[in-house]
Amino acid sequence: MALLSIVLPSYNEEMNIANTANTLSHFLEKEGIEYELVFVSDGSKDATFEEIRKASDENPRIKGVEFSRNFGKEAGIFAGLELATGDAVVVMDCDLQHPPEVIPKMLQLWKEGAQIVEGKKSSRGKESLFHKMSAGLFYGIMSHLIKMDMSASSDFKLLDRKVVEVLLGLPERNTFFRALTFWAGFDTRTVEYEVQERKYGTSKWSFFSLMKYAISNATSFSTLPLQLVTLMGTISIIFSVILGIQTLVKYLLGTSVEGFTTVILLILIIGGFIMLSLGIIGHYIARIYEEVKGRPKYVINKVTGNVQGNVTGSWKKR
Ligand code: UDP
Ligand code: MG
Repeated sequence: MALLSIVLPSYNEEMNIANTANTLSHFLEKEGIEYELVFVSDGSKDATFEEIRKASDENPRIKGVEFSRNFGKEAGIFAGLELATGDAVVVMDCDLQHPPEVIPKMLQLWKEGAQIVEGKKSSRGKESLFHKMSAGLFYGIMSHLIKMDMSASSDFKLLDRKVVEVLLGLPERNTFFRALTFWAGFDTRTVEYEVQERKYGTSKWSFFSLMKYAISNATSFSTLPLQLVTLMGTISIIFSVILGIQTLVKYLLGTSVEGFTTVILLILIIGGFIMLSLGIIGHYIARIYEEVKGRPKYVINKVTGNVQGNVTGSWKKR
């Protein structure tokens, strides 16, 4: 019988772990699904890992690791994929906002031959208007940049073992799980789900962390911002040719351009363009620098349950 691994990245979720572990294991047992739960505590500052340890002591199908510090949800997902041993792997949030009832549907599609089953939000759940708007803007830009509709996509997905191996084989450090599955291709189907309300604790995203996430993902999937620099340069050159000719003509006619206003405006505009361009280029150089250093995506500090292999050095073997 096929084994299903469920990867649950968790950051400061002490109140959710026991409930999620129980809900999931009861549900999967009731459905007769062979499963394992892989909790990844992303450097939590509360008792998340102790809760995971308790759960794994009670149920041998539960295992978990603790990072040495907070490495971010992406790192958590990839560590989970690395530790999962199943023939299919489902990635979901550990706050049960991704309803477990959808898992059997995903498995059914997988058995019918799907290699990736995307969870698609049928509604965005209860979010503030501001959050909805920033998410809308982010996905609008992202969909445009990577030429795939991502507006309803989420990290709730089922992946076939083959896809997991492809993702784990990618050498890059800065990953964007949500878009990488589109990039990977394979037989992809979607399942709709209703985003549930968070039971305990609070969302881990602030406005600034979302902005950082958006910029880092947009630049890791596209070089369009760099082409923007060329575009700005072209526009300035066209303008400078026109203005240059006008100024020269006026000079020769003896009626030179009046006042400092023009000069000040030109300096400000061109200065702005140059700074912005340097910023964009600098951002890409920073990304290259990070990739070149080749540091691991995450560092594991503690493990619990049936964790196999040399996990603390797992990034080296690939
Ligand atoms: N998460 C994580 N590392 C982080 C931030 C979040 O592993 O640095 C996990 C978190 O524990 C949760 C999931 O990612 O399981 C989604 O986070 P959250 O519920 O805060 O986001 P939201 O559902 O509000 O988008
Ligand atoms: Mg959540």
